[in-house]
Amino acid sequence: MKSPPSRRQFLKQTASSSALSLSSPVQSARPAARYDLLIRGGRVIDSSQGLSAERDIAISGHRIVQLAERIDETEARQVVNASGMIVTPGLIDIHVHVYDGVAPLGIPADPNCIAKGVTTAVDAGSAGAHTLPGLRKYVISVADTRIYVLLNISVVGQSTLSTDNPWGELLDLRYANPKLAVRTIEQNRDVIVGVKIRLTRNITGDHDIKALGLAREAADAVGLPLMVHIGGSFSPLRDILAMMKKGDIVTHSFRGGEGGILDARNRVLPEVRAAIARGVHLDIGHGAGSFSFDTAEKALRQEVVPGTISSDLHQFNVNGPVFDLATTLSKFLQLGLSLEQVIERATTNPATVFGFPNGLGTLRPGGEADVAVFSLLEGNFEFTDSLGAKRKGHQKLLPVATVKGGKIYGSASIPV
Ligand SMILES: [Zn+2]
Repeated sequence: MKSPPSRRQFLKQTASSSALSLSSPVQSARPAARYDLLIRGGRVIDSSQGLSAERDIAISGHRIVQLAERIDETEARQVVNASGMIVTPGLIDIHVHVYDGVAPLGIPADPNCIAKGVTTAVDAGSAGAHTLPGLRKYVISVADTRIYVLLNISVVGQSTLSTDNPWGELLDLRYANPKLAVRTIEQNRDVIVGVKIRLTRNITGDHDIKALGLAREAADAVGLPLMVHIGGSFSPLRDILAMMKKGDIVTHSFRGGEGGILDARNRVLPEVRAAIARGVHLDIGHGAGSFSFDTAEKALRQEVVPGTISSDLHQFNVNGPVFDLATTLSKFLQLGLSLEQVIERATTNPATVFGFPNGLGTLRPGGEADVAVFSLLEGNFEFTDSLGAKRKGHQKLLPVATVKGGKIYGSASIPV
């Protein structure tokens, strides 16, 4: 008669059967090994060190400790097999809305950021001075995604505008309060990285230049950049750009329609080129109404290439056409940017724009162990912009796993 398995045998059996059933690339073993985690065999793309080649990455605690052509897997407690995959620094998305439950467009951060390869996200204006404490307390401090903030110059942030109430946060200019914004920023310097303003007519009415002046005043007082949402404004873009300085950011730069970067003859406005020349950054901020393939194709043909690619992910685009940052990056592969150019615009460049602490947006040893693993799918994919225009592409980045501060997060595609 067969005796029941001992506890030890049982554990052994359970361990091996779960290892078999797990389709995850993660293997666990060797408690006494030198590294905590090894990401093996992937094509590592890191523009901070001009790298696009097969490398292994060793992690101890929350730091990257080694990057080499070959690191023995017996040296690590856990191994992620990334062979055939793309490995990048944890992505940085500088335009998202994650004030879930307060700003009507807010979405939960973790399922949409860290589960999709984005380890660091910037909430772009969901909160103003009055609502920032809640964003800190109920979102930033509990999310696994590292969240920074652009403070809306309106005290109410983006709490007023929804599909059922199309009135934005600056229709009453008295809500723009630079003094209060400055005080809030001074008290929250660890999370606030700049000031945000939206200038569309249903948000700021016909006093956009006045409102921009107040946002300018706050940004200058604290020495931080200003992110300006363009498009559909009362005043022409050239008057808005005239108030923007080196280090400031134009988001929605490839939007279609009125108030964009192209003139009536589809040429990039000279004022846009002048702004770029003096150090104003162009950002994408895809969003529900702010990315046009047509504008993108025309601008790229005139050699205007935004330095950062962000999603403007929110409630009204997360189920399409944006989905996630990786899909937005895939659209730029379709537009003809190289994989290296695309990754640079969601890692190294955004880290530089906001002067993030050393170690973010890079895989250099000593840096924060934030790593994203993607499958680069080959096939026929249809991509849609904010206006419903479609393009066929042949490559698509699919987030597979994310590591932040040395900790592994799964994704919808491969649970860890
Ligand atoms: Zn936005």
